[in-house]
Amino acid sequence: MIGRPAPAIVILGNGSLATARRIQQRYPDALIHGLAGRVEGADRRYHEFGATLRELYQRDTPIIALCAAGIVIRTLAPLLLEKGAEPPVLAVAEDGSAVVPLLGGLGGVNVLAREIAAALDVAAAITTSGELRFGTCLLNPPKGYALDDLEQGKRFVSDLLAGESVRIEGPAPWLAEAHLPQDQQARLAIHVGHAERQPSANELLIYPRNVLVAVTAGAADLAGAIRTALHEANIALPSLACLLAGEGDMVNGALREAALELAVPLRFSARSGSVLEQVRSAAPSLLTSIEINESMAIAVAAEPLDPLLIGRPRGRLAVIGLGPGAAELMVPAVKAELARANDVLGYETYVRMAGPLRADQVMHCTDNREEMQRARHAFELAAQGRSVVVVSSGDPGVFAMAAAVLEALHESSDTNWHNVDLEILPGVSASLATAAQAGAPLGHDFCVISLSDNLKPWSIIEKRLDLASQADLALAFYNPISRSRPWQLGRALEIVAQHRTAETPVVLGRDIGRPGQTLRVTTLGQLTPDQVDMRTMVLIGSSTTCVFPRASGGEWVYTPRWYGDKPAS
Ligand code: SAH
Repeated sequence: MIGRPAPAIVILGNGSLATARRIQQRYPDALIHGLAGRVEGADRRYHEFGATLRELYQRDTPIIALCAAGIVIRTLAPLLLEKGAEPPVLAVAEDGSAVVPLLGGLGGVNVLAREIAAALDVAAAITTSGELRFGTCLLNPPKGYALDDLEQGKRFVSDLLAGESVRIEGPAPWLAEAHLPQDQQARLAIHVGHAERQPSANELLIYPRNVLVAVTAGAADLAGAIRTALHEANIALPSLACLLAGEGDMVNGALREAALELAVPLRFSARSGSVLEQVRSAAPSLLTSIEINESMAIAVAAEPLDPLLIGRPRGRLAVIGLGPGAAELMVPAVKAELARANDVLGYETYVRMAGPLRADQVMHCTDNREEMQRARHAFELAAQGRSVVVVSSGDPGVFAMAAAVLEALHESSDTNWHNVDLEILPGVSASLATAAQAGAPLGHDFCVISLSDNLKPWSIIEKRLDLASQADLALAFYNPISRSRPWQLGRALEIVAQHRTAETPVVLGRDIGRPGQTLRVTTLGQLTPDQVDMRTMVLIGSSTTCVFPRASGGEWVYTPRWYGDKPAS
């Protein structure tokens, strides 16, 4: 089961920092997000309050905002009519004197409000009638239980609030502490059980997630077959806690789809034996087990099952691109991947750029030159069932880790490595980020080349430079220069100058998307290697690249889309 991220504590000024820290003591994984320029010492800086809050909300992150409730409401209002995640959202007074749960009643906002209020030694401003009266939200059963029907549940709670009493049928340990008006003769009943059941109008149905299905891959429409088997065994679908398969079926796509369709985790067992034996050994405190056929068996446990304790998941390895640096230029899929990571590997600068990470996430920082070792380490971790991220700056496929990871896999005959769920997630590469700031210097055909001769002979670099210049391609130089490669850039520019005029526009982008970034437009004739370092992207125009002044100062650089005769417009 993928849990909700740790809460984000959002503050607008240094005055809230003390309260934020007290809340953070209660939730050590929560990060304090502080407004850049106003807050010093936050875990994460943001520039725009509204955009930050909305993004957190959309990523299902519980929000504890230390500001006026009205500001939070107005900021999130545009999102409230959209369907989808509704994380808990609370407003807390800067001085910690008031805790106001605003949204996410079903996501446990009142529980959070009470916890925070206790940490701050004040009372939470609970306004939910059911919660106030019964001390618990009946519509938000604890982990391991699922409510059948929310709308029906709401009617049920109104009836209770109107003064009716209630019977509890089945084991509901968490209700023991609730102040429910119980009466064995009551018309209303809370029914807890895994049997399939048509809810009657007077019933609140809650399913324990205590059912496990073991399968072997192969059946067509596996999800359908599982539904039918559960129905025939009179087991309600919401009670299904997880699917279990043998490790041999780890890469099977049909299994993965079935788990996705049924919205349950898929776990793998190393044990051999029939599905019946598998399912029996996986479920503790077994009530019953049923063999449907040789490729499917059902186990019903006496208590809800924690899928995290059953077998192990398929490991995942994602090679991600952070983009040039700025958080806005990181693609959402990469952000989501970082949120689910157990381990983050990479060159220290980039691992830090990917963070801050949560306390439960392990950082493995290595030297920039140890790429193959890092790639193998990543597979070792992922093969244990962990969710591993390897970070690169820019795009991971451009002079970065993706190729190293694939090379390591190609060289390996370890099935556990090949079974890992491997994905490469792209990023904005330095040449594209630099080009965008300058205008569109890469608007026509261009050539991307690394000037580093660490992994290739210098002769091939010279040949490629010569041919690419001859072909009148715009050029993007990665790794243009370093202390151990001092003369190569000068030589490269000589080669280019044999085919281009001294007026050819050149763009130098340094630390683009990072603090202290600089962008400079010059010409090939004026460019000297001392203007460039290893944090610089060098873009050299083609014969058609143009420059003209910007109204706001500086220049625009672009290479027209056409070549030769300008098309009639
Ligand atoms: N995978 C990265 C490139 C790694 S090679 C990407 O796609 O961007 C490293 C080179 O990229 C550096 O020597 C520099 O030339 C360039 N580079 C990386 N980040 C940069 C940035 N933020 N600004 C300018 N150049 C950058």
